[in-house]
Amino acid sequence: MKFKDKVVVVTGSTRGIGREIAHAFAREGAVAVILGRSAAAAAEVRDELARKGLKAESFGCDVTNPENVLEIVNKILDKYKTIDILVNNAGITKDNLLLRMSENDWDEVMNVNLKGAFNCTKIIAKVMLKAAAKGASPASGGASGKIINISSIIGIMGNAGQANYAASKAGIIGFTKAVARELASRQITVNAVAPGYIQTDMTAQLKEEVRNAILNNVPLGRLGTATDVANVCLFLASPEADYITGQTLCVDGGMAI
Ligand code: NDP
Repeated sequence: MKFKDKVVVVTGSTRGIGREIAHAFAREGAVAVILGRSAAAAAEVRDELARKGLKAESFGCDVTNPENVLEIVNKILDKYKTIDILVNNAGITKDNLLLRMSENDWDEVMNVNLKGAFNCTKIIAKVMLKAAAKGASPASGGASGKIINISSIIGIMGNAGQANYAASKAGIIGFTKAVARELASRQITVNAVAPGYIQTDMTAQLKEEVRNAILNNVPLGRLGTATDVANVCLFLASPEADYITGQTLCVDGGMAI
């Protein structure tokens, strides 16, 4: 019960990696706040957790809309008074080769993956800063708040057909470093996790030959699981990681070596 009663907001936790991150924190005693564009899908995950006797809350929330994010954050604060941990996980892909990539596909990916993280971090960092100023109970050990941004190995290595996605995920790494510097004096840590190829809906669409080509480049010889990523989020949010900020941890089976 490492995160007993800590309030953890996980964006895009209606399925895939975000859902597993929410489950992992809830198993450790946290109140997992499930967010996704569909309130019904978020409520399903909340109910799943409740059936296991775990604490959860859910809201429909589009991270691209700052008014919507603020409204939901206020609802969370009305009930729980604080937010200890934020995981910016919501993300989409709209792949195409550069010359065929529409402006709309560029904008949509940047809006969800990068601006979504900006919207949520700006609003929730304010909550964490207020709590730090009041000397409220720290998110873990000596830290006043923990922010974890889900980037991607594609933001480090690039990938043909994913110029928009790679730019958004590289952007997340720069954003993480800048915000880590801004919030460090209040003992709020900000780190990124860069998953490699993880088995989720996002990668289920890959053709057999593409999947095999990917596996040839993974030294550990398997796709990752959402649990592999969730475990690293638990670590970065824990007191054991209180002296780590501005970092990007690759969870990629060695792909980026
Ligand atoms: P999924 O497509 O399985 O899930 C994406 C989640 O994001 C869903 O819950 C979706 O919910 C939510 N979402 C999408 N748009 C919005 C929005 N505008 N506002 C709020 N929520 C939104 O993706 P994965 O689990 O595979 O990926 C999770 C994160 O991990 C992403 O940031 C992705 O880029 C990153 N990642 C994934 C890798 C992989 O191999 N799977 C590898 C590296 C990084 P809903 O549709 O209900 O809104």
